[in-house]
Amino acid sequence: MKKKKIIILGATGSIGENAFKVARSLKSEFEVVGLVARNSLKRLAEQAFELDCHSVVTTDVTRIAELRTMVHSGCAVDGGEDAVLKMVTALEVDLILCAIVGTGGLLPVISALRAGKDIALASKEVLVMAGELVMREAEKNGCRIIPVDSEHSAIFQCLEGRKKEDVARLILTASGGAFRDSTREEMEMATYEKALAHPTWDMGPKVTIDSTTMMNKALEIVEAGYLFGIPPEKIDVVIHPQSIIHSMVEFVDGSILAQLSKPDMRFPIQYALTYPARLAGEMPRLNFSDCLNLSFQKPDRKRFPSLDFAYAALRSGGTMPAVMNAANEIAVEKFRKGEIAFTGIWSIIEKVMSLHQVTAQSDLTTVLAADGWARQTAASLY
Ligand code: MG
Repeated sequence: MKKKKIIILGATGSIGENAFKVARSLKSEFEVVGLVARNSLKRLAEQAFELDCHSVVTTDVTRIAELRTMVHSGCAVDGGEDAVLKMVTALEVDLILCAIVGTGGLLPVISALRAGKDIALASKEVLVMAGELVMREAEKNGCRIIPVDSEHSAIFQCLEGRKKEDVARLILTASGGAFRDSTREEMEMATYEKALAHPTWDMGPKVTIDSTTMMNKALEIVEAGYLFGIPPEKIDVVIHPQSIIHSMVEFVDGSILAQLSKPDMRFPIQYALTYPARLAGEMPRLNFSDCLNLSFQKPDRKRFPSLDFAYAALRSGGTMPAVMNAANEIAVEKFRKGEIAFTGIWSIIEKVMSLHQVTAQSDLTTVLAADGWARQTAASLY
């Protein structure tokens, strides 16, 4: 059988490392033809050697020479944002996994779609910022966007072979984060270190803080809205602290389908890479005899206003989701630096969204301008 050719963008981050493990465990299935990372260049070179990959790019243009001294012989090295765009458009591949943290994935994804490439999407910001644009490009170029976010992978799996008109609602599960049971006062006083202690998932720092504020779920509501073309009133969230059910779909007849597994990002990554096939791999199994207790609770929208931001952003559409995302990124950074309290993250997002004049997502320039405006406005608030 012909090997699937893939590129991994954001190879040394948390998702990238898990993708590396999946690719290594299924070496007979995949040929990794390109790897991209910003930092951890030594690790990037190691991955390239282990996966027998012959083309690596660092997005940091000043470090090309340094990377060149690290890679195995015969491995091509390039650097800068343009080199990433060149790689995703020029190399002949079956699938590009985009796992670049934050907003840096947007341009590479749009370029790849324009070049007719299918995307496995882990960077939720891409759909949050420019969901209308990205889905339009995918459709126009006949490309698939396969979700890697665990909730969206679950929904994607539950929706397979179903008609959209049969869907009553999507039910996203949320762990509730480190402050699930904390009072407002405890949250006001919380330190960055405390907010970083996630109960079930092991992820990068930005996503972990987003889980604690529940902004991660807010971003995921928007992501689901655009990815599946489902209106905000048909997207629900339920707290499920064990993170075993990764999300569900309720159909018009009241039946609900769910996808379950241990909370391990290799599941959605592997499925996105092997789709539509399912391969044995080396994934850990769920054992129902080890007291598998699944519990659920309603999210507290008063203590965690993030979900309201998401519904408002989806309802207004256009540039509002990009503004919500950008304001959140700046606010999280301010919290990390100790400039604002944990709860100040919400105040900043709310304020920036209330000041924004929405325009349509007509092109990338409009989206990036709104993103820039939101960053500047958020930076000026405290
Ligand atoms: Mg998720």
